[in-house]
Amino acid sequence: MSHTDETPNDLPPNFIRDRIVEDRQAGKNGGRVVTRFPPEPNGYLHVGHAKSLCLNFGSAAEFAGRCHLRFDDTNPATEELEYVEAIKADVRWLGFDWGEHLFFASDYFEQLYAYAVALIKAGKAYVCSLSADQIKEYRGDFHHKGKESPYRGRSVDENLDLFARMRAGEFADGEHVLRAKIDMAAGNINMRDPPIYRIKHAHHHRTGDKWCIYPMYDYAHCVSDAIEGITHSLCTLEFEDHRPLYDWILDQLDVPCHPQQIEFAKLNFTYIMLSKRRLLELVRGGQVKGWDDPRMPTLSGMRRRGYTPEALRNLCERVGVSKHNSVVDVTLLEHAVREHLNATSRRVMGVLRPLRVVLSNWPEGQVEWIDAPYFADDPARGTRRVPLGRELFIEHDDFKEVAVKGWFRLSPGAEVRLRHVGIVRCDEVVKDAAGEVVELRCTLDPATRSGGPQSGRKVKGTIHWLSAAHALPIEARLYDRLFLSESPGDVGPGGHFTDNINPRALEVVHGAFVEPSLADAVPGTRVQFERLAYFCVDPDSTTELRVFNRTIGLRDSWAKQEGK
Ligand code: ATP
Ligand code: MG
Repeated sequence: MSHTDETPNDLPPNFIRDRIVEDRQAGKNGGRVVTRFPPEPNGYLHVGHAKSLCLNFGSAAEFAGRCHLRFDDTNPATEELEYVEAIKADVRWLGFDWGEHLFFASDYFEQLYAYAVALIKAGKAYVCSLSADQIKEYRGDFHHKGKESPYRGRSVDENLDLFARMRAGEFADGEHVLRAKIDMAAGNINMRDPPIYRIKHAHHHRTGDKWCIYPMYDYAHCVSDAIEGITHSLCTLEFEDHRPLYDWILDQLDVPCHPQQIEFAKLNFTYIMLSKRRLLELVRGGQVKGWDDPRMPTLSGMRRRGYTPEALRNLCERVGVSKHNSVVDVTLLEHAVREHLNATSRRVMGVLRPLRVVLSNWPEGQVEWIDAPYFADDPARGTRRVPLGRELFIEHDDFKEVAVKGWFRLSPGAEVRLRHVGIVRCDEVVKDAAGEVVELRCTLDPATRSGGPQSGRKVKGTIHWLSAAHALPIEARLYDRLFLSESPGDVGPGGHFTDNINPRALEVVHGAFVEPSLADAVPGTRVQFERLAYFCVDPDSTTELRVFNRTIGLRDSWAKQEGK
């Protein structure tokens, strides 16, 4: 579809945007755009929800409209206040603001009830006393027409009386339901007299014990949209077949407006599982430490891991909006994260598995503080001071006793550049009784230091390091993909999705160190450990021990296993 004058040219095509533009040009809703994000508070938001958030809040912002945050809290059995608060925090973190427009479907329970009474009075709804199994059996399926309930002919008065008594708590769960009276022969099964109210004696996190009947999603959703004056009700594709019901209900009622439901494809990724039900199973089963475990695809997990809201928003924009379900390669998500971190994360030095190095020509007790830029290619973005002393830590991996072809890091007799310092040569290897390498004796060539006569001398390798006396101990948590399989939800007979869990999705490294400039880094601080990966300070950090989460490697290590 072509872009119109209202659509900025640098955005990818988006049929929802096109549709809104059309509606505005036709003068629908007086040109207003009102959308809503309607989470059910039965779990934490995941990266799929980011897509819906970007679409709803993004469309509203683009057309100077507004977007409501509405909790679809119609199922008291699975919903909790903890989830409401977590969802609000996640929406804000992603960068969206609902302003005053925070709503709860439960705020409309009285209105929803009154509209249901209106449906009964109009002969468009009836109380059905079949059991749940019978209702299912009578409904038929794709090949078989439905069969009318024997209660379909109840009089308006009898229905009004029974519905009032359902509300009053006279019946047990499942004894009756209120059903819309539409068409048991409809080709669309959703139109075969769907239940719109059920009895459920359950405590609701907002309405307490006031209600023992609760509206069904298909009924509550469209009426809530209409009450709020929503113009465009964006939802995922599985609701396409529910749209006739959405429209039918609103057509029967004297509601303030009739929003337009528009469906789009869910966002899904390879290697990622996005069903709240299954995520809850991981939390309950202890396979992860909670909803915000950095291995989780939840917004709170990703935040804790170090992913940025900008990266997620860029990704959603790039993926575009589709009418067809597809699975996005997870490397696209990882690329978006890496891209934003590359542009924004300060470069610092950390050593995960230290090997002691003694600079034998450096005076005992002497410390020099080096001004080191956070971004080598743009020192104007800031510098910090890095101490250099006689004893250093380098990465154990940066030493090989027997150099192989193409090895440009340290080995006996070899030279390497220490980042921000100069060239050192390895003169001696010290081993312990077990024959393990425990220390290197090196000399630093002063002529190769910054400002020295040979500061430009080239060696092939540059490595990172820390002053042993100043290094801050940290715990490093190295995260990787939670699932080993590209489609973790697809399991054979007898299998379970947890069989696909990557046992190496978390590796905890004790005895790692970082440079002292990170002494004050607060949880949420994101940095790049040069040559290693991007890291983010975890809230588990204490003043004694900082915890750093590995957000993501510098390169795609799954595509190319070496070079991490
Ligand atoms: P799940 O299927 O993961 O349990 P849900 O659809 O039940 O999620 P809701 O709380 O009902 O979760 O979702 C709130 C909004 O987010 C809905 O409009 C829903 O369609 C949308 N949404 C949920 N998952 C995705 C996804 N993977 N991609 C895009 N939008 C999504
Ligand atoms: Mg849902």
